[in-house]
Order: sequence, then C-alpha cells, then structure tokens
Amino acid sequence: MNETLWAIYFPVWFALAIGSLLFFWRRDPAFKKRWYRRVSAFNIAIIGGMIVLMTIPNWPAFAIFLAGTLFIGWVSVFQTRVCLACGKVSQPDNLVTAPSFCRKCGANLDDGAT
Ligand SMILES: [Zn+2]
Repeated sequence: MNETLWAIYFPVWFALAIGSLLFFWRRDPAFKKRWYRRVSAFNIAIIGGMIVLMTIPNWPAFAIFLAGTLFIGWVSVFQTRVCLACGKVSQPDNLVTAPSFCRKCGANLDDGAT
C-alpha cells in the first residue's frame, strides 16, 4: 500500500467528481456528447491508475484491478451513449452492449458516435 497515494486518493476523487459535475453543469447535449468520452477517459485513467498503483507490490491484486479498470474504462468510454435530444447519459443495459435508445426520451442513439 502506497501511503502517499492513499492519502490523496479521496481528495483527488472528490475534486474530479465535483470538477466533472461543474464542467457539464447546464451544458447543451451537443457539448456533453463532444466531451463526455474524453472527460470519463481522463477520470478513469486518474482514479483507476491510482487504485492500480496502490496495489503494488501485490501483483495478483494489481492484475485484477488493472483488468477491472480497463473494463470499466472500455464500458464508460466506448459503450456509453449521450443523447443528443435531451443530454441524458445512458450506460449499457448489460454492461457490454451500448444502448440503442435513450432511457429518458427514447431517441435513437445508434449514430456511431459517443
Ligand atoms: Zn434523450
């Protein structure tokens, strides 16, 4: 366990959560759609990276958390859609397949982009 990483983990997590919230606060759907993938990739890289680094030198835990972080990153970056009609973020229903329709307004989300 890396004591420094552990000490800054929650402040960093909190800052990213609040920062992302403010970044998307009252933005239009097109803005959300344009930035959602980059912001979530950034957040997951930082938070997941810290968690993975904290497992060193426990290598089995390192492998498990690295795989978990990569999977969550893949789901949230490539399998999550932002609705252009209402701005709602839709996660995959079954964790692996991106949703085809918006959960909130029912708009078609299969446009090939995020
Ligand atoms: Zn919608």
